[in-house]
Amino acid sequence: MNQMMKKSAAKPGCVYLVGAGPGDPGLITVRAMELISTADVIVYDNLIPKELLDAARADAELTYVGKRQGLHTMDQENISRLLVDLARSGSSVVRLKGGDPFVFGRGGEEALVLAASGISFEIVPGVTAAVAAAAYAGIPITHRKLASNALLITGHECADKEGSDIDYESLAKSRGTLAFYMGVLNMDRICGKLVEHGLSAETPAAAIQWGTTPKQQVLTGTVTTLPELARETNLRPPAIIVIGEVVRLREDLDWFEPRSS
Ligand code: SAH
Repeated sequence: MNQMMKKSAAKPGCVYLVGAGPGDPGLITVRAMELISTADVIVYDNLIPKELLDAARADAELTYVGKRQGLHTMDQENISRLLVDLARSGSSVVRLKGGDPFVFGRGGEEALVLAASGISFEIVPGVTAAVAAAAYAGIPITHRKLASNALLITGHECADKEGSDIDYESLAKSRGTLAFYMGVLNMDRICGKLVEHGLSAETPAAAIQWGTTPKQQVLTGTVTTLPELARETNLRPPAIIVIGEVVRLREDLDWFEPRSS
């Protein structure tokens, strides 16, 4: 452990794209904690466990750039520019993002701007929401007999795209687990398209809201019944939709909610 902890503190002029994990602050990595507690500036998003900011230096600058209900506090271009300017002024910068910075977090876009601007950067992976929320719901996203693959898919793009990049036909045929991020408001369409392209209407499905936190709520049904359940219970983001045979395992493996209630 000592050896492991020996990595250096946040360096001046460097930007760290850090995954804050899915919600439970205990799921943060050792490296992330080291950087959070030594950085000059922390630029953070909406869906991070706010408790993590308590570990920042007393004199650290904390800047919120997240979005709430679709409204960005700062647009992506300005966020990237801010990171570059801070690093150029000699600050050590932690860019703290929910889950993993490279999974639907625009971390890739920010890293490209840093690279193009000649800013040194480091990526600290985090526990991503689909894997963690499913685990806390008692759903292993792969299982030797039930799912040999698990796909991470954005459920967001369908809203404004007529011709979607998502190939529902291959998803319906994948015989693995499908995990949709940002899919709550498009759940009808997502589930409908999968069935339309041949996924069995009886395929088990779950929606996990606020996974890994004390507010975690899980709805289970089938790919046919889940959208209706979500409407009845007025399910709101953030939630992960998990579709596949592995969802059945929750009946035996549900461990978090019984313990936390
Ligand atoms: N980079 C993040 C994902 C950002 S996209 C990651 O790796 O996890 C934001 C989406 O992530 C939300 O709309 C929701 O689908 C999902 N999400 C994030 N935190 C979540 C949580 N605690 N429970 C369920 N879903 C969550």
